[in-house]
Parts: sequence; structure tokens; C-alpha cells
Amino acid sequence: MSTITSQNLIDMFLAIAVAIEGDKDRLSELDGVIGDADHGVTMSIGFSAVRKSLLALDPAEADPASVFNGAAKSFLNAVGASSGPLYATAFMRAGAAVKGKAELDRDAMVEAFQAMAKGIQDRGKAERGDKTMVDAWLPASEAIGEAAANGAALGECLDAAAKAAGEGAEATKAMLAAKGRASRLGERSLGHMDPGAASTALIVRTMADELAKA
Ligand SMILES: [Mg+2]
Repeated sequence: MSTITSQNLIDMFLAIAVAIEGDKDRLSELDGVIGDADHGVTMSIGFSAVRKSLLALDPAEADPASVFNGAAKSFLNAVGASSGPLYATAFMRAGAAVKGKAELDRDAMVEAFQAMAKGIQDRGKAERGDKTMVDAWLPASEAIGEAAANGAALGECLDAAAKAAGEGAEATKAMLAAKGRASRLGERSLGHMDPGAASTALIVRTMADELAKA
């Protein structure tokens, strides 16, 4: 993996769509404990739409920013509420971060990743510890930044992000929900992993594994 091309990014999104589809029942079950049991279905609808729109793109014509922007638009069109605007903002911010670049080197990919995490936090207004997807995205963003600052190659940087997202998701089990429907459950939300953090861990792991093949 030296640089990431538009084709690599398209393959990454297609792999995420497959991973989410495969895990959608577990994600909805997690949501059923503390929410309305639709997280797996919602994410699967969003990433199926992303998949469809990116398969229609010509990777020779589309630059990395257009891939992210295409993903943003299709996700938002398919999922207007809950995680829809969060992921749409994430992908749009990533697109803005890599605007004008033909390929992404390590620093550009790290920047795109951190822009996604920041977008999700800005749009959702959740803080660390609120038991949301931010509890997986923020540690992942910090870990990828630290790895890059320590001179790690892109593969290692993404792997560090994936590990941190997984640990962050695990840590939501011990948190009380402070946002959304789950917050009404109070202590009943304890002991259960936040579904948004769970899907984040899956998404970031899939990004790392898929881009490692690039
Ligand atoms: Mg839900």
C-alpha cells in the first residue's frame, strides 16, 4: 500500500457494504436492547445505496473526493434520519479533505479519516462517554494520528485505528447512554454495547483490512 486510488476507495466501500450486510442482524439486536432495533437495517440500506452509486462511477474519471461525495449523497438519500446525516457528513468532510488529489498518500488518507470522525462528532454533537458511535470514532481518530506522528506506514496507522475503534466500542458497555432514545433507559443501558459504536468498529476494521490489499 503506497497510495490509495479511487478504485481502492470504491473497493473499500463495497467491502464495508458486504460487512454491514453480514452483521446487520447483530447490529439490530444490539439496537433492540437500548433502541428501536433498526440500526443494522438502517446501515445496510445506507451502504447498499453507496454500493449501487459507486458501482456506477468510472474510477478512471472519478477522483477520491468524488468517491467520498458520491458515498455521502447516496447514504443521505437512502437514510434521511439517525445515522444517515452522520455518515453523510463524515464522507462529505473526507471528500473536502482530499479535494483536488488524484491519489491519497498516507497523510491524505489519515486526514480523510480524521475528517470523518470530526464530521460525525460535529453533526451528532455527542461527547466522549455519551455511549454513541463517537466513543469508537474519536479513539480511532486519535490512534491513527498518533501512529502517523510516530512514522508508521499507512497500513499500521489504519490497523491502530481499527484496534482503537474496537476497544472504544467495547468500552461503551460500561457507559450510561446520554443521547437519543437510549438515554431514557438510564441504567438499563449499562452492560450493552452501543450499536453505533459496534458498526463503527466493523467499518473501521473493514477499511483497514481492505486498504491493506491496496
Ligand atoms: Mg435505532
